[in-house]
Amino acid sequence: MLATKVIGRLPSDQIDNGFYGQDILSVSQFDRTKLDYIFGVGREMEVLVERLGSADLLQGKILANLFYEPSTRTSYSFMAAMLRLGGQVIPINNVQYSSVTKGESLPDTIRTLESYADLIVLRHPELGSAAIAAHYAKKPIINAGDGVGEHPTQALLDLFTIVQDLGQLDGLKIAMVGDLKYGRTVHSLTKLLVNYGVQFTFVSPDFLAMPPDVLDVVRSTGHKFETTHDVHAVIGEVDVLYVTRVQKERFTDLAQYDRVQDYYVVDEALMSHAKPNMIVMHPLPRINEISYAIDDDPRAAYFRQMRNGMYIRMALLAAVLGKA
Ligand code: ASP
Repeated sequence: MLATKVIGRLPSDQIDNGFYGQDILSVSQFDRTKLDYIFGVGREMEVLVERLGSADLLQGKILANLFYEPSTRTSYSFMAAMLRLGGQVIPINNVQYSSVTKGESLPDTIRTLESYADLIVLRHPELGSAAIAAHYAKKPIINAGDGVGEHPTQALLDLFTIVQDLGQLDGLKIAMVGDLKYGRTVHSLTKLLVNYGVQFTFVSPDFLAMPPDVLDVVRSTGHKFETTHDVHAVIGEVDVLYVTRVQKERFTDLAQYDRVQDYYVVDEALMSHAKPNMIVMHPLPRINEISYAIDDDPRAAYFRQMRNGMYIRMALLAAVLGKA
């Protein structure tokens, strides 16, 4: 159990939701009850945005959005989420222009930003960096990706998208395709999906296989999984095809990257073998692994994912600040 961090004095109007003042570091913090709660608030946020555009729920609150790695969707959806809830944002997307370039440590940078903000969203290239930041911070830290570790808010929006599109999770066949070794989104998503009765297929070249610690979680929760190199062998059966980019920035040998970067391509020919009611997901950015020709296929869910990301991040910000 994570200790609640005090955000000033405990406000009398704080909602006791199990998230108030908590760090969000890993999907292991979520069970089905917590997921239902966040998804319920996410749906309310969608209605709010569609009907009103914005609200003043987080008026007076400030988010520090600290990104040591590139980001488009995560960074800007957190910003949009805070702005739509009436809060404000200190955006730090160019750490090279901060004292980080002078050699300032992560703990000192975090201590600085928490002097100005009510919570911090952090993306950092090192595994475990969010936990280190949370250790030093008195304000809540939300992990927006820690190297090859986790990307919990992406997994939450992924799960939310599956529920919104397919109605439920139990009983689904889910294939994850591509760079399963370095892709943090599939690590988090797999660890979150074990809360449900799903079947997994992991599709990758051998040297980009799902890490053993993630497979241990799958096994220890009594789930079945298969592994294969061949996406054609599974396309006809799956309810969800979750495609990932080969994570070029994690390769030390770029010749090896060149050999695998176009290993899987989801195109019209492949989709002609897929079920009519399945969905294709991708955390984005895509390189060549999904053809633009399938963007208008109703089964292509990746643009819905990015919009859902804002609703889920609105829900999380409101929950952690005790306002949802
Ligand atoms: N945007 C996702 C991430 O930050 C996926 C990717 O970059 O491939 O992990």
